[in-house]
Amino acid sequence: MCGVFGIFNHPEASNLTYLGLHALQHRGQESAGVVSNVEGTLHGVRAMGQVRKIFTREALAQLPGPLAIGHVRYTTAGGSLVKNIQPLWAQYRGRSVAIAHNGNLVNEEVLREELEGEGAIFTSFSDTEVILQLMARSHQGDFRDQLADALGRVQGAYSMVLTTADELIAVRDPHGFRPLVLGRLTGSPDTYVVASETSAFDLIEAERIRDIEPGEILTISKRGMSSSFVPKAPRRSCVFEYVYFARPDSVLDGKSVYEARIAMGEQLAAEHAVEADVVIPVPDSGVVAALGYSHASGIPFQMGLIRNHYVGRTFIEPSDSIRHFGVRLKLNAVPQVLKGKRVVVVDDSIVRGTTSRKIVKLLRQAGATEVHVRISSPPVNGPCHYGIDTPTRAELVASTQSVEEIAKSIEADSLGYLGAERLLAAVRAPDAPGKNFCDACFTGDYPVPREPPRPGRKQLRLIEV
Ligand code: AMP
Repeated sequence: MCGVFGIFNHPEASNLTYLGLHALQHRGQESAGVVSNVEGTLHGVRAMGQVRKIFTREALAQLPGPLAIGHVRYTTAGGSLVKNIQPLWAQYRGRSVAIAHNGNLVNEEVLREELEGEGAIFTSFSDTEVILQLMARSHQGDFRDQLADALGRVQGAYSMVLTTADELIAVRDPHGFRPLVLGRLTGSPDTYVVASETSAFDLIEAERIRDIEPGEILTISKRGMSSSFVPKAPRRSCVFEYVYFARPDSVLDGKSVYEARIAMGEQLAAEHAVEADVVIPVPDSGVVAALGYSHASGIPFQMGLIRNHYVGRTFIEPSDSIRHFGVRLKLNAVPQVLKGKRVVVVDDSIVRGTTSRKIVKLLRQAGATEVHVRISSPPVNGPCHYGIDTPTRAELVASTQSVEEIAKSIEADSLGYLGAERLLAAVRAPDAPGKNFCDACFTGDYPVPREPPRPGRKQLRLIEV
């Protein structure tokens, strides 16, 4: 769960990268960084926190040059430490390189151990550093060949942007797990941009050209654009991007996330119809699917839950006497919508099951006579190995409980999940039949096995505050 952005050939490259990262902030709020490039010399600002806090006018003034890459981070591998903030950067064989990565490598530990055995020094816990180390050790002469060499060794998910010398490079793993899209600034045909999602393009008025192909290494420089490819593998784009993670105003691999979510809601209504008076979403994640459910079922859509957008990560409870306000910090019910009503409440997913339980309770307290929970994806019963932050299998409620048991434990009158086939039908682009998606978190069908964890491996102890 991270976002990446890159821009080539613009006098305000770092300012536009800042804006691009702002539009990708939903992909990671823990840390952010921008590295700009002036004729091969890299300038970087990287810090913990959100984009708007880090990139003040003064910070952006430290980032000159016509080329920049950026990253927003949500920790999935390596832990939440200053040393892991991206873009990572390094110098080897007389050239500087910076890299920003979205996705998780599944053979990182094995490679790290091997590299350490050869004398490599690691300065972060990030799996991305393994790629830099492999590049530095490659016997290939050309930078792009060194990168291809390194990519030949790593397995798993990577959508990345790199910069070195006068080049911007965009790379997507051969399965295409995580999204990555190429665009061009409107009215500035020689300014190219690369981003995790098209939402970043809209803000800076760029138009989408195409998605980076799975397995593609795209190099953009003054000499033009050229592509090479790592060996092919079956396409497996992440279906959970459409379900939850991506912004609904983005287009991923040619498919609108908004339209996919509407279709999920419509399919959900067809699969799990119920007599009810009102359809309400869990904001914001369930809003678009709830619209689809309402449209297909003919049951009116209302906002029965209101979200407070200013909830921080931690909250000091004022005193012991005010208890049980937990979920109300984020969501409050509207009795005028709910009182005396049979309610269908739509959310995108159930992970641990705690949110749904609290919501059902909240709706009943506000006067709902029946609460029917509808989920626009199948039960999440396995962790993601490719970059979505999911808890361990044991914590996933659907890994140990049946749908009936979950319905009982969240105290819903009924519970309906969207079936895996219907989900795939909702996200499939019309011109791309076949499976094409990774749905391992729902089906257990993992396209790339994860190397088992290495017990007893000594961890680095480097804590920077
Ligand atoms: P839970 O209470 O653990 O069942 O969480 C379910 C809620 O978390 C749903 O409203 C989802 O929108 C949201 N959600 C789903 N996947 C994730 C994720 N990987 N990280 C954070 N929130 C998520």
